[in-house]
Amino acid sequence: MSRCCVIFDLDDTLYPERAFALSAFDAIGEWAEANLGVAGLNDDMVRLLDAGHLGQIFPLSLQRRGVDAAHAGHLLELYRQHQPASLQLYPDTTACLDACAARGAIGLITDGTVAVQQAKVRALGIGRRFQHIVYTHGLGGRGFAKPHPAAFEAMQSTVGRPGDRFVYVGDNPAKDFLSPNRMGWTTVQVVRPSRIHASATTIEGGAPQHILTTLAALPALLDR
Ligand SMILES: [Mg+2]
Repeated sequence: MSRCCVIFDLDDTLYPERAFALSAFDAIGEWAEANLGVAGLNDDMVRLLDAGHLGQIFPLSLQRRGVDAAHAGHLLELYRQHQPASLQLYPDTTACLDACAARGAIGLITDGTVAVQQAKVRALGIGRRFQHIVYTHGLGGRGFAKPHPAAFEAMQSTVGRPGDRFVYVGDNPAKDFLSPNRMGWTTVQVVRPSRIHASATTIEGGAPQHILTTLAALPALLDR
């Protein structure tokens, strides 16, 4: 049987991104109380996250407290610099990574500020499991974020051998699957109930070939 290289997304695929957000909101809330004299901003941000205002959380939370929204940029910086003390993988992740590693190689392709994503990998204790990790922004900036193909091409040329098949496992049809679909990879979406990009729309050519609700079902799918 040919080797299979299974490449994973990180946020909301291997661990709940919400846990990172809540940890960062706590740190931002403490800063806002000490420096802006506003208490309870962390709870406001959680409510905005749950209401689907991802991307507007910092200016909205400030505006609603009557604080100059010009501070939003600093809150975003605090979010990006936040070092989570600990994060937990989803319960089905470890066994799945072991099972996939036994079929060939495993890798990670993740978007986001490089230092933030590295801090998440560190907090999850998973860095050494992967043959290769591509932090897309590290390829030359945000312009290299998915769906840009560069990360997938770099992964394939680094871990692939002739005859390997490649699989990408992610959660977000707005960016995760377009490039691997075009490159002939198998694409798998794992749909977590708690995911924070639940409203993401599928881009043209970006629909996953398979949809799972748990990574526990991935090894059997690979063996089909
Ligand atoms: Mg994701």
